[in-house]
Parts: sequence; structure tokens; C-alpha cells
Amino acid sequence: MALIPHVIGGEKITAAERTQPVYNPATGEQQHELAIASVATVEEAIAAAKAALPAWRKTSLTKRADVFFNLRQLLKQRTPELAAIVTSEHGKVLSDAAGEIARGLENVEFASGLLHLLKGERDEQVSTGVDVHSIKQPVGVVAAITPFNFPVMVPLWMIASAIACGNTVVLKPSERDPSASIFIADLFREAGLPDGVLNVVNGDKVAVDTLLDSRDVKAISFVGSTPIAKYIYERAAANGKRVQALGGAKNHMIVMPDADLNGAADAAVSAAYGSAGERCMAVSVVVAVGGVGDELVQKIADRMADLTIGDGTDPASEMGPLITREAKERVESYVAGAEAEGATVVVDGREAQFEGDGFFTGVSLIDHVKTDSKVYREEIFGPVLAVVRVDTYEEGVQLINEHQFGNGTAIFTRDGGVARQFEFEVEAGMVGINVPIPVPVGSFSFGGWKDSLFGDAHIYGPESVHFYTRSKVVTTRWPKPEQSKVDLGFPSNS
Ligand code: NAD
Repeated sequence: MALIPHVIGGEKITAAERTQPVYNPATGEQQHELAIASVATVEEAIAAAKAALPAWRKTSLTKRADVFFNLRQLLKQRTPELAAIVTSEHGKVLSDAAGEIARGLENVEFASGLLHLLKGERDEQVSTGVDVHSIKQPVGVVAAITPFNFPVMVPLWMIASAIACGNTVVLKPSERDPSASIFIADLFREAGLPDGVLNVVNGDKVAVDTLLDSRDVKAISFVGSTPIAKYIYERAAANGKRVQALGGAKNHMIVMPDADLNGAADAAVSAAYGSAGERCMAVSVVVAVGGVGDELVQKIADRMADLTIGDGTDPASEMGPLITREAKERVESYVAGAEAEGATVVVDGREAQFEGDGFFTGVSLIDHVKTDSKVYREEIFGPVLAVVRVDTYEEGVQLINEHQFGNGTAIFTRDGGVARQFEFEVEAGMVGINVPIPVPVGSFSFGGWKDSLFGDAHIYGPESVHFYTRSKVVTTRWPKPEQSKVDLGFPSNS
């Protein structure tokens, strides 16, 4: 069985004291063995990144940008191949895998504009004969730690900007679907990136902790579940690093009485069950306002009956399996417990039948969900949509604002005034107005509020340039020698 390697200083390293299986979730069969990094292997990767830093820092911006222009072409040409890798280890359908590659490409395109992004500022004659300018310099070696659910897009969220800004990187992808990261590292190399600028180590907590504790790693970008995000934030910050740690979500979609209910039902089904609900921006709660509940639930249930669930390589499939058997059992346990928590299970995904040993579950719809229930409070991260009914818009917003998570949210309405008020007062980092999954385009930044993000920098886009650079302010004066004199006063402007 093929052993998935690490990539360190351009070399594929397979030596490993420990290994673990990587499955095809659609069949339940192991398809690869993964090398799990020891402390020494991670230290080797950090050393390779540190060694590559001086030359990469000195590489002209134009040459750096060239890598990203080349990479863009390669990623476009090789999308079918990369999508097939994603589907084989993650399970999402091929069109969805191609979609995440397209969204990741936005970050590559953003990074190719680095000449503009890294421009500093200059102020002339701030004092007589004195000018000031600022420059942005790389922070050094940075680590990127990523989740299973977007094995292409999330690594690109981080590494594109980090590398463009002149840093070198150690990427630690999810151990569930690591092959996409190896493929991306190969494409970067083909695009002209020097060895050692991007290193990939596969592994678990041992690898992550080594990155968090290393004095040579200056910044940590993390995306994953909230408990781990909090842990990463605390440990890395205690070690003096800058950290952005994005966590879990429970994204609410408010449907107002004046909304187009067919459009809202289409959006709810697409956003709840796409990628089997394993998206941090998936809609997991629909808030039905002012009596639209019965009609909306019926429309959602009608659409669910038409969904085709199956192997992601089958073009007829609209939804694939969950990532692991444990994930399937966990997701189904929420559906099993829902009625005891006072809710009504309208569609029970556990009843769906599938052939073989894949990690499939059907789509579930749970109505009359109580806000103190586990189904409502916890992130399920599977194809389970909860419906909460409220009388007024104000009650709906209050639910969102009181929830632990604040990643994305949406409102469906035809009333611009209500939409504007929602945008003004809702406590979430990304808001959709008649858009169920408002993932910002690559020229903006992505990030939630509350327990959906620890740290203060959102990811990719303009905030990533800030995160991956240190600014330096230079004050300049060219006095004539005869004007020189001793002056013990504090320098002041004149
Ligand atoms: P996870 O937290 O289990 O794993 C994320 C990364 O952390 C992996 O690389 C993993 O190896 C590592 N890790 C896991 N346990 C660790 C530990 N104890 N110590 C150190 N490192 C550890 O998340 P996941 O299951 O891979 O991904 C799903 C989660 O990610 C969901 O909660 C989802 O909402 C979240 N997510 C959030 C966003 C966002 O932008 N906010 C985007 C995608 C996914």
C-alpha cells in the first residue's frame, strides 16, 4: 500500500516511526498508509523552511509573482486530477471538489497581485527635511494547520498569501485527506517555487505541538474545530507567536414571512446538505419567522426527497459520504436524540439505505427544535438541518446573537430595510442577504466572530497581508554637516 510521504526541502520523505490508514469514505476501505511525523521530522521541516527563508525573502517581487501566475495555470489544467484526489479521500462529489479548487484559486490570484499588496506608505516633509516611509517584511517561518473538510481550499487560504509575502511555510494538513497537500506542493515546485519554501508534514497532535512550541515558527494559521482552535490560540500565544485560529460554526438562516419561500427552500437544502453538511459555512439552523414554518418545512422536505446520495465519483451523486465511520455515528446520534429533546424528526437520514461499507448517512430535517437542546447548541457537522420557529425578526436575531458561534449567517427577505437592520446588528463575521453561504471572494477576508475565531486577523485577502508581514517604519533625514549640533531635548516636529 502506498505510503503518503512528507515533503521537506523538496524531498519526499517516507521514513516514519508511526503510520496510520487513510480511507476512501465511499467504500470504507483503506486506500493509503500515511507517514505520521515525529518531533524530529517536524523539526527537520522547520529547519528546511528556516534555511530557505533568506533567499526567498530576497527574491524579487516580480519573480515571486511569476510563481503564482504559473501556479494558477497549473491548478486550472490539473483540476480534474486534483478533484479526483479530494473525492477519493474526502468523499465529496467531484463537482464540489472542483468548486473548492476554484475558490482556492481566488487566493492564488490574489497572491499574484503581491506587488500592489506589499506597497508601503510614504510621507514627505513630516518635519523640516524629514521623510517617513513604512515597509512590510515577512514574519519568517509560518505554520499552517488545516482541517479535513476543504483539503485544497483551506491550505490555499493560508499558504498563498504567506508565501507571496516572503515567508516560508510548514503545512500540516488533516491526516484524514492529506494527499491534496502533497499534490499542491508538487504544483508549487513545478510553478518555480524553490525547495524548502513550502514543506508539508503529515501527522497529529505531536506534529502540531512541535510547531506550536518551536522558537523558529513565528506565526500559526489554524482552521478546525473550536476546542482545538482555542487550544492552538492559547498555546501559540503563550509562546509569543501571532495566531489566527478559526473554529466551528452553527450558521443560522432567517426566513422572513415576505421571502420567496421556494427560493429560500432551495437555498436551505443546498446549503445544509451540500458536501454532506461538512462545511463550516453550511446552514445548520433555519429560523422560520412569523408563521412560515409549516410551508417552508414542507418545501424543504419535498426537495430532500429528490436528492441523490452516493459515491462522489458518480456524476449522478449530489452528496457523498461523511469523512469517517465515527463521524457518521456521531451525526446520527444527534438525530436519535432529537425527539427526546422535544423536537420533531421530519426526515430521518438514518433510514436511508446504502450498499457497501461506505460512511454514508441520509439527510435529516428536525423541526420545532428547542434552543436549549444539543441539536441546536452544538456543531453537528453533518447533513442535519434544524428548524426553529419564532414569531418576530427580533427574536430571530436574538437567537443568533446569543449563540456561542458567529461564523456566517443569512437572511432571506424582500424587505431592504429589514436586511439592512440585520446587517447592522447581527453578531457574525460573514452575512448573506438572500445568499445562504456568504464565503467572501478572495479580495475580502474570511472569518467569524465569537467562538468561531480566536485571534484578531481574519484569513486570506487583505487581512492575510497584515497577518503575514511585520511593518517597519523608517524615518529619514539628510542634514548638511554644518547644521549638526548636540541637542538633548526629545526630538519634536518643527
Ligand atoms: P479538527 O479540529 O479535528 O482538526 C483540525 C486540525 O487540527 C487537523 O490538522 C488535526 O490534525 C489537528 N488536531 C486535531 N486534534 C488536535 C489536538 N488535540 N492537538 C493538536 N492538533 C490537533 O477539525 P476537523 O474535524 O479536521 O475539521 C472540522 C472542523 O473544522 C469543524 O469544526 C469546522 O467547523 C471547522 N472548520 C472551520 C472553518 C472556518 O473557517 N471557521 C473552515 C473549515 C472547517
